[in-house]
Amino acid sequence: MIVTNNSIHQLTIPTPFAVGDVHVYLLKGDVLSLVDAGVNTDEAWHALVAQLSKIGYAPHDIEQIILTHHHPDHTGLIERFSRAERISAHENVDVWLTREEAYFLHYEQFFRDFFVLTGVPDQFSDFLENIRSPLRFAGRGKLTSTLKEGDRLPGHEAYQVIETKGHAQSHLSFLGDDGTFIGGDHLLKHISPNPLIEPPLLGETNRPKPLLQYRSSLEKCFDLPINVVLPGHGEKFTSVNEIIQERLVKQESRAEKVLQLVKENAETPYRLCEKIFPRHFAKQIDLTMSETIGQLDYLEAEGLVTKTIEDGVIYYHAI
Ligand SMILES: [Zn+2]
Repeated sequence: MIVTNNSIHQLTIPTPFAVGDVHVYLLKGDVLSLVDAGVNTDEAWHALVAQLSKIGYAPHDIEQIILTHHHPDHTGLIERFSRAERISAHENVDVWLTREEAYFLHYEQFFRDFFVLTGVPDQFSDFLENIRSPLRFAGRGKLTSTLKEGDRLPGHEAYQVIETKGHAQSHLSFLGDDGTFIGGDHLLKHISPNPLIEPPLLGETNRPKPLLQYRSSLEKCFDLPINVVLPGHGEKFTSVNEIIQERLVKQESRAEKVLQLVKENAETPYRLCEKIFPRHFAKQIDLTMSETIGQLDYLEAEGLVTKTIEDGVIYYHAI
């Protein structure tokens, strides 16, 4: 457990996911809040209760849950805090907490169509059938207040809300006046978060371009007075602008490799994904396709590739 100052404590909770442990933060202000809520397992709950108790708190002391984004390793335990009547997050978190059926039907249809469009073969239909299964680790509930760029955190006036879309379409980070940055999965010390593909929001037609969003969220953070990052995973760190530069440069070099492949041959996103991730694509089709599409979105935005559609499938060509 890290105490950065009197008003914030880091608590660390196990997850069943490859990412390993997740951190949540107890924030003391006009109200007592928990930023993020781990996964919905008994093991996670016991770990959280034990760590709260070591610093003199119990679950029923928590009055508000604030979420950095909607992923299951960050929302899982929200239902277990009986006194936390306030749940605050980006408005795009809500459909995930309420499990709005219309949204999930839209979500599944988007991925069915998207896999066809990007040339993913039928053998991956399993992924589509199990698309809701991680939800068993996610929390259920309803937002009571929505947060957006520039807001102050309710009950914690010293924290400003920074929109940091990219890894998720609901991602927010929180910057304290003292330079403490609660960064969720946006800024991590050792890894770049995956720019996960998500469908257009209900009522919109174009899908978001998460890698481009991630880059602009990184560039936004470059200009902020951040002293220390308290991340969702891994160690806290201070050399923020160095890490941001590293992330941007690494992404550009990954894009360069994709460009070389496209120059050899016009290809579908799926064929490129197989070539870029020969050892991982079969087991992690969602993550590897998201990464591939992200680099293609970037190359397209830079004017380096263009796409055509042949028989309902996209091909990328070098310009
Ligand atoms: Zn996470």
